[in-house]
Formats: sequence, C-alpha cells, structure tokens
Amino acid sequence: MARMSNLPLFLLLLWGVGSQGFPVTLETQEQDMETVQKYLENYYNLNNDGDQIERQRKNGLPVEKLKQMQEFFGLKVTGKPDAETLKVMKQPRCGVPDVARFVLTEGHPRWETTHLTYRIENYTPDLPRSEVDNAIQKAFQLWSNVSPLKFTKVFEGQADIMISFVRGDHRDNSPFDGPGGNLAHAFQPGPHIGGDAHFDEDETWTNNFRDYNLYRVAAHELGHSLGLSHSTDIGALMYPNYIFSGDVQLSQDDINGIQTIYGASSNPQQPIGPQTPQVCDSKLTFDAVTTIRGEVMFFKDRFYMRVNSFYPEVELNFISVFWPRLPNELQAAYEVVDRDEIRFFKGSKYWAVQGQNMLRGYPKDIHASFGFPKTVKNIDAAVSEESGKTYFFVANKCWRYDEYKRSMDAGYPKMIAQEFPGIGNKVDAVFNKDGFFYFFHGTRQYKFDPKTKRILTLLKANSWFNCRKN
Ligand SMILES: [Zn+2]
Ligand SMILES: [Zn+2]
Repeated sequence: MARMSNLPLFLLLLWGVGSQGFPVTLETQEQDMETVQKYLENYYNLNNDGDQIERQRKNGLPVEKLKQMQEFFGLKVTGKPDAETLKVMKQPRCGVPDVARFVLTEGHPRWETTHLTYRIENYTPDLPRSEVDNAIQKAFQLWSNVSPLKFTKVFEGQADIMISFVRGDHRDNSPFDGPGGNLAHAFQPGPHIGGDAHFDEDETWTNNFRDYNLYRVAAHELGHSLGLSHSTDIGALMYPNYIFSGDVQLSQDDINGIQTIYGASSNPQQPIGPQTPQVCDSKLTFDAVTTIRGEVMFFKDRFYMRVNSFYPEVELNFISVFWPRLPNELQAAYEVVDRDEIRFFKGSKYWAVQGQNMLRGYPKDIHASFGFPKTVKNIDAAVSEESGKTYFFVANKCWRYDEYKRSMDAGYPKMIAQEFPGIGNKVDAVFNKDGFFYFFHGTRQYKFDPKTKRILTLLKANSWFNCRKN
C-alpha cells in the first residue's frame, strides 16, 4: 500500500468455526494459535517479525499484545488464549485495528469542512439499488443528526467519501478475503483515498437481521470515514465487533465521539443517545433479574449482565445476542426450574424460553394466561418458589399464582408491605436463590427470608458484581 498519511481502516471479520463442542486436538490447538496470531497482527499491530523475540520467550505467544486485546474487550487479562478470548476473536468484527499501525499526528484526523460529498461508485447485486442508496443515506443521516456535518450525494467525479463494493485484492494493500472474515474497511479523513469506504462484495449484504446488515456496517464504517476510532463501549456503533441488535442507533458514546471532533449539533435540542450500563456504578438499577440454570442474569435497557469467570467484573452484552426476538426494556422475569423455563414480561405480554430457545406461540397475554384483571397493565417483578408458587408484583400489590393449578391463589392481591414487610411498597426486580428472595428497588437490594418473613441483609443493587467498592 502507498504509505500515505491516512490510516488504513480495515474491516476484517474473523468469522471462524466455533471451538466449543469440538474435542481439543493438536489440530484445533494449532488453528487457535493461528487465529490468535492473525488477530493480533490485524488489529493489535503485532509485527510479523519484530515481535519474534517476545514470542519465542513466551512459549510462542505474543503475550503483551494478547493482554492488550483482553483489556480492550473487558476480558480477564490472563495473557493466555482462553476459551472466551478465542470466542471474541472469532466474532465478526470491523477490520479497523483497535491499535493504530503507525503513530498519527497529534489529535484526531478530521475534515476541515462540515459540508462533505459522497458518491456510491458501484452497487452490490445482493440488494436492490434503492435499498443500497437507502442504507447509505440513513447511515450518513445518523451522523449528521448529531453534529454540524452535512452530506451531499454526488453522481460523478471525485467525492470526499467514495463508497464501493469490491472483492479480494483491490489495490489498496488491504485485500478482502472472501465470505466472512474481512467485511469492509474505511479510511480516515484526508485527500484521495481518505474517507473512502470499501465493502467486501464476497459478503452477502442485507437490509434485515441476516448477516450482514449493510446499514449497520455502513453506520460503523462512516464513523471511521469521519475520524472516529474504535470504542470499548459494547453499546456503541463504534465497537469493533459486528452486533446487529435489531435497530441501528448512535449511543451516547458515539455522539460524544463525533461531537468531540466537530462540535455540537446545530439542532437547538441536543440529541441524546442510549447509554450502556456501568456495572460498577453505585447508581445502577435493574429492569428485571432472574436465575437461569443456576446463574443469575440481570436486565437493563437493551442489555443483560451476568457474572462468570471470563470477565473480571461482569459480562455485559445485548439481550438480542441471546434471544433475538425478545424486546428491550423488559419489566420482569422469572424461572420455573421444574420446567427449565424462563418467562419475560413487558406490558401485557410475556415470552417463554428454554435456554436460548424461544418457545413457540409467544408472546402470550398475561390476562388470558394468568388471570390478571384488565386493570393490570404490566408486571413490575416476578419470582417463583420451588413449591410452584409464583409471586407477581404490580405497583404496591402482589399476586400469588399456582404453577400446578394454573390459577391465582385466593386472597390475592395483597399489599406488598403486608406480605413482605420491610421491603417498601414497590419492587423493580426480584429473584430466588437458595430459598431466599432478593428484592430490588432503585439502588437498594434486600435479601429476604420468605419463611420467617424477615429481611436478612440490605445490599447495593449491583452487589453481585465484582466491583471493588459498592
Ligand atoms: Zn471499525
Ligand atoms: Zn479497500
């Protein structure tokens, strides 16, 4: 590649075969080593020969680069290619390095004008032309909505941002690699190739949830065209990995990024975007919490959180990664252990899953299924006992449902303050672990013994996460 001042932004999607479920053979081990090596070369500036000494010293692995990668993704920094690290490395992602290849001049690369032109040089046959136009136009609009930038489409000549669908080696020293793997790349602001975005024609481009949604990838790539680099915020469009959560929107992190470079929007009402929960924020609250096959899963906005050994604090990801058809902003969830079933509630509807599988026939109606009166519009929280009794919390009342008889118990609803004294009269979320109920309200959590009807401990809502200080 011509070593111009522009940082080449590759969109390499390493989309390997999952290693889970395969017996660990020498061959898989070698493939994994290859994956690690290639990944670090592509995204972490691992030099093919320069880091040889480091590799040789540390059992053939570039430990420091691996640690850098693990830190970027919020993984436990082990310097070892453990299962979760390999899993993340095999996820489809943007090929733009997370660590720059060469040191840039001070500050962000940026366009000197706020009025920019773009041109779509050619079209993918995967979609009707109008759909490609639409995806690209919407992707630009995301960024112009929150900044002083304006984009004009041109149909001939040189535009600031040239968009094309190309395959294989296309003469910018950043060859594409066939289906999967390397998806696209874009160049940071600058003359000539600067700002240009290339999409791998060997991918299948879509306008829906199938891989790969063009609008989603374009929205990310154009961020690079405008001067943004990768974000460690998994809720941001500028996060390196391809995640399609159903809707494409800039997070507050993306908005902060573009506004740092170009200033605030000229719109009198400044745009705001969704924020990603900060797991160790003492102000963190939850929409719903449930056990699931022995683990505890917390839900907030578009995200779930859970504790496992791979993440130092907590694993956080989109709910849609687990259950693509579940809505965001759930209101309640509970597990029926006997049936290995989790039920999720939002408004007057609920969904049921077994593991990652959504059960057929859902969503169903809470009135028809459980016998709630029409006055109940939504459920705040729910929890089930081993006895088959499920408590539903609605405003300041609670109902008790019998999972075996499939009917509400007589005498309900009762006041929460009467049935569960001390926890207040409103519940955000609750789950049952080892016979104890953990009630959440705002930033507070109460460990409650349903047998003695007493509060055992008062905790912060995020006490389950391994935060240093709560
Ligand atoms: Zn990228
Ligand atoms: Zn290219």
